[in-house]
Amino acid sequence: MNELRTTCPGCGKPVVFCGSFSMSSICDACGTIVVRPDYGHPLTGQGLAARTGGQTDWKANSGETPAQQQNFATSGTIPPPTGNDSPLEFGMRGIYQGHSFEIRGVVRLEHDAGGFWDEWYLLFDDGRWGWLAEVQQHFYLTFAVDLKKAATIPSFDKIRLEERFLLRPGEPPMTVIEKGCGRPLGARGEIPYALAPRKVYQYADLSGPGGRFATIDFEETPPSLYFGRSVALGDLHLPHKPEDLGHEPRHVEAVNADCPNCRHSLTLRIPHKTVRVGCTACGAILDAAEGRLQLVRTIAGASKPRLPLGAKGPLFGVQYTVVGYLKRCLKSDASEAWDEYLLYDSHVGYRWLTASDEKWYFVQTVPAGNVELQGKNVLYDGKTFRWHEQDIALVSCVLGEFYWKVDRGEQIWMTDYIRPPEMLSREITHGGPDTGEISWSRAVFLSVKTIEQAFGLQPTLPRPASVAPSLPSSFRWLYVWWAAMVGLTILAGIFFQFHHRCQQVFHKTYSLPVAPQAVGQAGKADVQPNLANGDFGGGAAACGEEGPLFFSEPFEVRDHENIEVRLRSSNTNFWLGVDGDLVDEQSGVVQEFSLPMEYYEGVSDGESWTEGSREASAYLSALPAGQYTLRIVGHHEPPNVPLSFEVGVYENVARTQHLLVALAGVSLIPGIVLALQLSSAYLRRQR
Ligand SMILES: [Zn+2]
Ligand SMILES: [Zn+2]
Repeated sequence: MNELRTTCPGCGKPVVFCGSFSMSSICDACGTIVVRPDYGHPLTGQGLAARTGGQTDWKANSGETPAQQQNFATSGTIPPPTGNDSPLEFGMRGIYQGHSFEIRGVVRLEHDAGGFWDEWYLLFDDGRWGWLAEVQQHFYLTFAVDLKKAATIPSFDKIRLEERFLLRPGEPPMTVIEKGCGRPLGARGEIPYALAPRKVYQYADLSGPGGRFATIDFEETPPSLYFGRSVALGDLHLPHKPEDLGHEPRHVEAVNADCPNCRHSLTLRIPHKTVRVGCTACGAILDAAEGRLQLVRTIAGASKPRLPLGAKGPLFGVQYTVVGYLKRCLKSDASEAWDEYLLYDSHVGYRWLTASDEKWYFVQTVPAGNVELQGKNVLYDGKTFRWHEQDIALVSCVLGEFYWKVDRGEQIWMTDYIRPPEMLSREITHGGPDTGEISWSRAVFLSVKTIEQAFGLQPTLPRPASVAPSLPSSFRWLYVWWAAMVGLTILAGIFFQFHHRCQQVFHKTYSLPVAPQAVGQAGKADVQPNLANGDFGGGAAACGEEGPLFFSEPFEVRDHENIEVRLRSSNTNFWLGVDGDLVDEQSGVVQEFSLPMEYYEGVSDGESWTEGSREASAYLSALPAGQYTLRIVGHHEPPNVPLSFEVGVYENVARTQHLLVALAGVSLIPGIVLALQLSSAYLRRQR
């Protein structure tokens, strides 16, 4: 490996440049950034193009180290990144896809939201190099690639979140998930560009399917591209810790620090990760740097979270500690609020537990590149999640420790997609809606009992009162009950239909004569009202204004049985209107009914057709037992054709309406619950 040695302009100690692409080397003793002279002055950013030039993918580098050791420049000093519990170390060796590398340097960069990430500079034995980005226990390994052959990338100002680019031939499109600026906070070892401590580096991160990851660096024109994928630590075969399969992070001790506002002693459980603290005593928002706290703003009064900060509990096999608590609400309606708990474990990093209307969800980020937008819905993990709602949320309370500079009033643009019992959420933070960072997360419902048992809570948590769309499990019993009741009701309906003692209590056939005016027209003079197929018995027929009036002989109706009057005719092409009264002989109480019926048939264009029906019926409510008579008036069209029809009276009739009413009855409560579930008013946030 090429090696270039010089002495530190700050302290005179030796400084080493190992690879051809190492442009800056930071003095271990005094932190002076020494920049090689053959790449121009670092503060102007001139001459940086050399850093990606000639290196494409895994093509071997044949660059030669310049021999001259004079004219080294310095761009200032920078402290080393401190308090790291990273499993990676400066000088550590590993193997990626069969190629050995050594970690030759690291830069810590602060992003727009006030948090930070580390970029590890991997120098491979064959001279090539890569960036290994470490962001909250996630690792992304990228290599410089030639962008000229691929997409035309717009300028930093023009590039938009969720814009998609075909960055490399044969690769799927990549989606912009973050657009921001990085400022160096710390560095150590060698860096493959001219590092300047006060410089702002503009970048965009892109995500693609299968863990693909890319960073566009806008320092140069055209911008440079780093392409790769997310990697697990195991992929890097860090050989000097073979026994340590879990890659144990170094243990970092909690520290105590006094709130500068109220002097309350606060415990910082992960001081090396925490950049912002909300005082649990006075609610003040504080900046944290290496365990020291500085007041950002005071807040009147602190909330009391249901899960105490510092509580530890196992969830999905990981022992989490509650380190932070946020209260969020909708910007449009502050009464729609929910709780978010930040959980931390040194192996897996951060997770969230959210509580909305006492319903709890475990929330984990998912790679944005694995989420595919399909119209209004999204596809993730082979499942379609339905668009649910979109809103802007605000932070209203901050307690405990956070990895970014969260503040009261911080906004997120959020969109929820549901597929019960899961929910996917898309959030744009640190800017939005066109700039900042997009993150996707998946929320899984957890019962209140699970939370209580995991964190050993006494007293117990309140139970949820309402339901949410992504929450079928706790109300599953209701739907099971509903289905059972519907089934039973239908079975009962069938049973009664078959076992009903439906009885005919009256039956008679009547004939309507040719109407008098029609008689005149027809030239017939002597048509009388008559009876067909039966006698009038005690009844009588008379010709009223509306048509013939018939009285039946008395018949018996039993106590409180429902009554059906049925009408039938075998005529064709007629309209019949029957107005009837069922008269209680004893009390004189009259129950009226009205039955129209029509039936036409014919042939047109060679096809026969029918319209209407030769049957009709009317239901009457249950009547007191006793003797009844039927009084009916019939009139018909056409009036010049006689019409005969049958009238039947039945009691104890099974009615399908009863079945429908019963079904509606058993469906009332589940129906209300379902309606509430579908109403977005009943969904608070469940992230
Ligand atoms: Zn030095
Ligand atoms: Zn305080």
